[in-house]
Amino acid sequence: MRSVCFRDGLEVPALGQGTWKMAERRKRRKDEIAALRTGVELGMTLIDTAEMYADGDCERLVGEAITGIRDQVFLVSKAYPQNASSARLPRACDASLERLGTDRLDLYLLHWRGGVPLAETVEAMQRLVDAGKILRWGVSNFDAADMQELDDVGGDACATDQILYNLTRRGPERDTLPWLADRNVPVMAYCPVEQGRLIEHPDLIAVAADLNATPAQLALAWLMARDGVVAIPKAGSIEHVRENRAAADLVIGAETLARLDALFPAPAHPVPLEMI
Ligand code: NAP
Repeated sequence: MRSVCFRDGLEVPALGQGTWKMAERRKRRKDEIAALRTGVELGMTLIDTAEMYADGDCERLVGEAITGIRDQVFLVSKAYPQNASSARLPRACDASLERLGTDRLDLYLLHWRGGVPLAETVEAMQRLVDAGKILRWGVSNFDAADMQELDDVGGDACATDQILYNLTRRGPERDTLPWLADRNVPVMAYCPVEQGRLIEHPDLIAVAADLNATPAQLALAWLMARDGVVAIPKAGSIEHVRENRAAADLVIGAETLARLDALFPAPAHPVPLEMI
């Protein structure tokens, strides 16, 4: 599978696994855990979660899913903006670690920008790195201007920006993605299949059919064809995980890329970074 390199040299697969909306229904729990474990077996070893998801229960579910295989997993969690202060971030991190049943996160993200000064969050993140509780840190839902501000307050160790990016949300190509690419900062693309809506898109269905692929696979392969992008689809069943994993083996040529560009054009003018 294609991989993406963080600036510290660590490589992660370009296809990971999201977890939002997992752990919300008791009867789905076993399937969700099985889906995540299957994904790891198939090489989708990056798992993205957050303290927000299912009010912490999603982290517990992920903790169960990675029992016995923690060292194979690149574990990402996210802190609420109101927890991003020097006083609260260590407590939020400890609580996430406890729920996940682990002693460290591979990557800890600020979920979105809030009222805590960025310089304070940078320092708090750095202290967690020094304490060995997180191996690196990053942000989410930051546009190019936010990233520049972060950089200006000493946040140049930021490992990634996790943003809404898929075929129907190409706004970041105007400014945020170039800002990150210029500095070799990989991006994590969330909602890669637009929460299922892209899978029902008639144009995408038609192009995918010509490649003997599914629309989910084509949407994911399009993201993976881009440098420095990690796609993190959430799949709650083994079947969906297997289907998504196969997207990593789907090669899309210049002609297909041109068709997709025509059907899903990048905006001609800058648009504010969207968020779900
Ligand atoms: P998504 O991954 O685009 O879509 C998930 C939906 O697509 C689920 O309903 C899933 O159904 C369905 N799906 C996945 N693979 C499929 C397939 N092969 N065939 C048919 N349906 C399929 O949306 P998302 O979960 O919102 O985003 C992905 C991850 O990004 C999240 O889980 C979360 O970890 C992260 N995220 C971060 C932020 C942020 O602010 N940083 C915001 C949103 C999301 P099943 O569950 O039935 O498989």
